[in-house]
Order: sequence, then C-alpha cells, then structure tokens
Amino acid sequence: MSTSLFDLSGRTALITGSSRGLGRAIAEGMAKAGARIVINGTDPARVEAAVAALRAAGHAAKGAAFDVTDEAAVVAAFERLDAGAIAVDILVNNAGIQMRKPLVEFSSAEWRKVIETNLTSAFIIGREAAKRMIARGRGKIINIGSLASELARPTIAPYTAAKGGIKNLTRSMAVEWAASGIQANAIGPGYMLTDMNQALMDNADFNSWLMSRVPSKRWGRPDELVGAAIFLGSSASDYVNGQVIYVDGGMLAAM
Ligand code: NDP
Repeated sequence: MSTSLFDLSGRTALITGSSRGLGRAIAEGMAKAGARIVINGTDPARVEAAVAALRAAGHAAKGAAFDVTDEAAVVAAFERLDAGAIAVDILVNNAGIQMRKPLVEFSSAEWRKVIETNLTSAFIIGREAAKRMIARGRGKIINIGSLASELARPTIAPYTAAKGGIKNLTRSMAVEWAASGIQANAIGPGYMLTDMNQALMDNADFNSWLMSRVPSKRWGRPDELVGAAIFLGSSASDYVNGQVIYVDGGMLAAM
C-alpha cells in the first residue's frame, strides 16, 4: 500500500535542467521510483552523459536538449515527444539561473534573462505539458521555487522576483487545471550544494552567516529533494494542489 502510493512505474517525467545539479538528483530519484526519465539542458553532451548514466544504472531515459527560454524549441520538443508517443505524466520545471549584483546595477536585459529562464519558461513548458495532460485527464506539475519565493536577500532581485512568481504561477496552474485531474505544486529548496552556489560555498563569510541562520547547521544535499519530488509526482499527492513544500533544513521556520 505505502509502496504503491509512491510508485512512479509507468509514468514519464520530463525534468528541465536535469543534466546536473538538483534536476539531475530529482531525475535519478524518480528513476529509482520507477519513472521513465526525459533529461533536459542546453548542452547536448551533458544531457547525453546524464542519459547514459541513468541507462547504465538500468533505468529508462532519453534526452531532450533545448533552451527553456526558446519557445519554438520548447514547442518542437513536445511535438517530437508526441511523435514518439511519449506522454509527459510528470513535469518538473527546474531549469534556472542565478545572477548576483546590486539592484541598481542590473541591466534590463539581465533582468529579462533571469525572469525568462526561471519564470517564463515554467509558464511556456507548463502550458505545453498541460494541454496534453488536460486531454488525458491527469498529470503532475512540480515547479522549483526557492527560499526566495518568500524572502529577499540583497543582490538577487530578479531571481527573487522570478521565484516569488513561481509560487503564484503554481497556484494559478492549480486553480485552472485541478478539475482536469492535474496537481501543480512547488518545492522550495534551501541552500543546496550545487554549481549554482559555488561562489557562496567558497565564501567564508557566507558560510558562517548560513550556519548561524539554518537550524540544521549544514548545507542541503541535492538528493534530499528526492522525497518531496516523488511525493508530488506520485498518487500520494493526488489531493495536494497549489502548495509549496520547503526543503530547507528549517530555515524559513527560524527567526
Ligand atoms: P545548476 O546551475 O547546478 O544546474 C542548472 C541546470 O539547469 C543545468 O542542468 C543546466 O544545464 C540547466 N539550465 C540552465 N539554463 C537552462 C536553459 N535556459 N534551458 C535549459 N536548461 C537550462 O542549478 P541548481 O541545480 O542549483 O538549480 C536548479 C533549480 O533549483 C533552479 O531553478 C534554482 O533556481 C533552484 N534552486 C536552487 C537552489 C540551490 O541551493 N542550489 C536553492 C533553491 C532553488 P546547462 O548548463 O547544460 O544548460
């Protein structure tokens, strides 16, 4: 009973930005739970390496390298999946970038790049996935938010605006698509050990600030998102909609 609730066998999961980092960890975790995986990123070689690693571990995987900010490429990727009779049962909108500088120094082009990569892509890919999920009467959408969905920190204004947007885009998806059998939820990771945070991991001042701030007194590991991802991708969450689950070592709970 408890096993089948969280079983992803027979489901296909497209995880954007899964050639490395958190997306890759979610892909590996969902594969172990039985899902067929579609790996995405902009670099075809990195995508193929991730696909090869999953296959070597005995999992079903294929690659779909495209830039999530390129609407034509997104539409074409879904058409290729349709042509191969591959239905996306679980979409994880994970691809994202960070850019750090004082707000007064951001150009509008930099602002747009962060918003398009971290927020607009979730709308476009979510829309393409949902059209097909609505026709089938079921589907799971998991958007990757952040502590920045709730709180601001100096130097990451466009990212914070995008991640705040992810929280309410998730609610919009839930209220529009719930009656069609779709659950749209988000995961808000805390500070996790990935390439995106290399500059912070290397910064002694940041590390001491983080250790004073996060109740768990440590960084999060990418694989620690897997439990929440499997829950939100599985039947276990069939009546959970429009929520953000924070996986943050208790950070948002702390003064
Ligand atoms: P990484 O930088 O480690 O990995 C990013 C992934 O996204 C790569 O696979 C990259 O592939 C892909 N990617 C980036 N831009 C695009 C694009 N335009 N089109 C397609 N793929 C793209 O990031 P993380 O794993 O750390 O972050 C993943 C998500 O989690 C992001 O949304 C991030 O905001 C969020 N997050 C991360 C936290 C953390 O502490 N690390 C905390 C909270 C949220 P490639 O380079 O080949 O294109």
